[in-house]
Amino acid sequence: MFQVKRSPQVFDVVVVGSGAGGGTTVKVLTDLGISVALLEAGPMLNPAKDFKEHVLPYQVDHRGAGPHAEEYFGRQQWGYFSAPNGYWDIDGEPYTVAKDNEFRWFRSRIIGGRTNHYGRISLRFADYDFKPYSTDGLGTDWPVTYDEIAPYYDKAEGFIGVTGTKEGIRSAPDGNFLPPIPPRVHEVLVQKACKKLDIPCIPSRMAMLTRPLNGRAACHYCGQCGRGCQTASAFSSSQAMIFPALKTGKLTIFTGAMARELISDGSGKVTAVSYVDKQNRTEKQIRCRAVVVAASACESARLLLNSKSPRFSAGLANSSGQVGRNLTDTVGYGLNGHIPALEGLPRHNSDGIGGMHVYVPWWLLDKKEKEFPRGYHIEIGGGFGMPQIGSFHGACRAHEGYGKQLKDHIRLGYGTGIGLAGRGEMIPNEHTYCDIDPHGVDQWGIPVLRFHWRWSEHEIKQAKHMHQTFVNIIEAMGGTANGLRNPERESGGISVGGTIIHEAGTVIMGSDPAKSVLKKFCKAHEVKNLFVADAAPFVSNPDKNVTLSIVAFAWRASEYLAEEMRKGNV
Ligand SMILES: Cc1cc2nc3c(=O)[nH]c(=O)nc-3n(C[C@H](O)[C@H](O)[C@H](O)COP(=O)(O)OP(=O)(O)OC[C@H]3O[C@@H](n4cnc5c(N)ncnc54)[C@H](O)[C@@H]3O)c2cc1C
Ligand code: SF4
Repeated sequence: MFQVKRSPQVFDVVVVGSGAGGGTTVKVLTDLGISVALLEAGPMLNPAKDFKEHVLPYQVDHRGAGPHAEEYFGRQQWGYFSAPNGYWDIDGEPYTVAKDNEFRWFRSRIIGGRTNHYGRISLRFADYDFKPYSTDGLGTDWPVTYDEIAPYYDKAEGFIGVTGTKEGIRSAPDGNFLPPIPPRVHEVLVQKACKKLDIPCIPSRMAMLTRPLNGRAACHYCGQCGRGCQTASAFSSSQAMIFPALKTGKLTIFTGAMARELISDGSGKVTAVSYVDKQNRTEKQIRCRAVVVAASACESARLLLNSKSPRFSAGLANSSGQVGRNLTDTVGYGLNGHIPALEGLPRHNSDGIGGMHVYVPWWLLDKKEKEFPRGYHIEIGGGFGMPQIGSFHGACRAHEGYGKQLKDHIRLGYGTGIGLAGRGEMIPNEHTYCDIDPHGVDQWGIPVLRFHWRWSEHEIKQAKHMHQTFVNIIEAMGGTANGLRNPERESGGISVGGTIIHEAGTVIMGSDPAKSVLKKFCKAHEVKNLFVADAAPFVSNPDKNVTLSIVAFAWRASEYLAEEMRKGNV
């Protein structure tokens, strides 16, 4: 007979998901002495075993080109060397996309979630980002101001460690920075070109340590952050937050635990989280005084939508019907350029950190009569990094023959390319949202999400502006633009929804319960012990990558929750 096992213990707080939001919540609450149970759908992470930071291709079968050497033949895969358990498609855990729509969803299933994989670009939202409606009449204002969240940006940067310089640029607020990383040769050339065009190009703001911090070693500039960092010099919530929280004795971790439903009582309070124990496919319940959902923006919406009860027939805390709505991703467009000035330079180690050392913040804030609302920043790629599997596919396609001739051709061209990637703000629209697909369940029997996606003219015009800017920069470098940066992930001159991996807005905060799900501290309007701590509460998705803001808002929500518990309000 089917039986649900209930935990005898009642935890103060159950946190669902261990990424940026869940990791921060666990850290803040356990530091305050609160007992936390963390439910994570993936397995435990063991950095020493799982991260292949310094593994060289020749050390593994087929040089890591896949079990059947797929990479040699140009087939895309999420590489062997990358931090583990990050997927565009998870076996047995599908999602669907509405007819004629395009959307792709990158998910990680492991302690630390996507913070094991992410690029660590860490930008604060600016003051005007919290007032989009007041600025241009589109979207909705946040119930929070920059001044209210700034102290939490300070805490977040101070704890995770973010490089940068104080620049006094309104679109790129200054923060609590570690020393910056000096630019490399291709970046110096980009800076010079930007100067000619009157575009700022400043040291990047990255969650990588240029000094030791909180027991984490300083970066040794191997350039492999995407593989996971053994010394925890690149921030991940697993290494920087969850492992230290375990030492407090206040944290119990349940891995392989896929939350299925939040159980609420007649008064509307959550009493337990029901989850599937993946190891033995049994259903279990874990009891709690409060729950913080931080499963990533779309998974959090899915969990609420799947938590139906007589009182909440459209899903928990969803009387407004807003759960799943207001979905956004970042607008993406990228272009490569060939820069002859980089040809024939003496080869040298230019690894640096695993990412850019300089970037371009939005620079046209004060321009009148722009072609599109809002703005974008530019991320810069290039350099003479260690070649990887597939690095020379392009050169081999472009050149007839093999042997010395081919090698000379590769040597001449290697490191002479730069990549410019625009990352801009999308405005929420009524055609873009996720809901539960009435026809699909995953391998655990949990109803799956269905995505609906449409870019509006605002985003399409913005991507066109990016193209022209990138051509201008490449030509100012004396180079030629030669192709889309990510052809497999862009269609019609703009990224496919979801592929910039900055989903936000599916459980928004606001002051009006008819139009929003959460109050300003990320607590549900309708359920007083339910909090959401990922990017789902974000009312807009400014052109700044979301993760630093997830940490800041989760920190603030967790302190508030702890205080509410202390007062007996939860
Ligand atoms: C390659 C890559 C590059 C990126 N670069 C940047 C960047 O440079 N800057 C930036 O700001 N952001 C970047 N991002 C995005 C960044 O990773 C995410 O914004 C961030 O990790 C989101 O944190 P989160 O807590 O919302 O969720 P996640 O990090 O996705 O973690 C969610 C966790 O919840 C678990 N989970 C999901 N559902 C359930 C369930 N039902 N029950 C139990 N557990 C569940 C998952 O297994 C996962 O571990 C990048 C992402 C990728 C993949
Ligand atoms: S470049 Fe620095 S932060 Fe990145 S993996 Fe290497 S040591 Fe870690």
